[in-house]
Amino acid sequence: MILIIGGAGYIGSHAVKACIDKGYDVVVLDNLSTGHDQAVDPRAIFVKGNLGDESLLKKIFLQHKIQAVMHFAAHSLVGESVQEPLKYYDNNVSATVTLIKEMLRHNVKRFIFSSTAATYGIPDAELIDETCPTNPINPYGRSKLMVEQMLDDAAKAYGLSYVSLRYFNAAGADESGKIGEDHDPETHLIPLVLQHLLGKRESISVFGTDYDTPDGTCIRDYIHVTDLADAHVLALQQLLEEDQVAEVYNLGNGAGYSVKEVIETCEKVTGLKANVVIADRRPGDPPRLVASSEKIHNRLGWKPKYDLEAIIQTAWHWHKQHPNGYDKE
Ligand code: UDP
Repeated sequence: MILIIGGAGYIGSHAVKACIDKGYDVVVLDNLSTGHDQAVDPRAIFVKGNLGDESLLKKIFLQHKIQAVMHFAAHSLVGESVQEPLKYYDNNVSATVTLIKEMLRHNVKRFIFSSTAATYGIPDAELIDETCPTNPINPYGRSKLMVEQMLDDAAKAYGLSYVSLRYFNAAGADESGKIGEDHDPETHLIPLVLQHLLGKRESISVFGTDYDTPDGTCIRDYIHVTDLADAHVLALQQLLEEDQVAEVYNLGNGAGYSVKEVIETCEKVTGLKANVVIADRRPGDPPRLVASSEKIHNRLGWKPKYDLEAIIQTAWHWHKQHPNGYDKE
């Protein structure tokens, strides 16, 4: 049995599906603060509650034979983390400490952690690999790096076995169109463009056209959520097969696309024309973030299946079927 915390969220729900499709039994723990109960795979056992709730964790560990834990349940808005840093340190760090302590108490020693490209800050490498220095520039990125460091210490001290996965820009939706991206507020580029093209928003803003990039807009590495989910299954297999693992892997496509290119690709996929408004830079946006995922490719054979156009096609399929997200279908 695998415990997936945050399994009602965007990336977590896709990982739940991937694990169950591969034959694993899954318990989902989620407080539904940002997740959706409709996103939880009906084949999973669902427990509603907080990841920092010691007695609830104890109950879960006593009731089920948990082989490994995947942890997706974090706050992840960079701007909010600057305004309310303690909310981030509380949930993303303190609650995770409680979780790890409870795991160790019940001799559950395999852990997969959702980390982020935000741990790198503003790197100057063309392709960011795991040896690049980590200098997060906001409390969100720092909270994730703190957990990574804590995991490493816990691995050395208590024999915890872990994989930290540093996601670049997660996007797209499951091909079934049944689960997908539904944030409130939505801040991510691809869902915002597609919601605009669906007539849900008047325009799409481009945050800055004066960056030092070929077309002046920021470049990101967009990676399909199903490719991310598949990487979790591979990491789980590594943890189940090897004795003690302490690894950090990047997850990206290795291809960078500018904001303008993303909007153009959305227009191409949908056959609709966007109303683009040029806006000021958004504070804290690095000009370019593109991953090298060679390490996980070489070690675990992970290879993304979806390019940008395929990512947008699956996202469009989801948004068309759920124009108002999960709750108001
Ligand atoms: N972006 C934009 N307009 C929007 C939302 C995002 O121009 O309405 C830009 C943002 O500044 C960044 C890129 O799109 O350069 C990706 O942003 P997103 O929030 O999707 O992901 P992030 O890279 O911040 O994790």
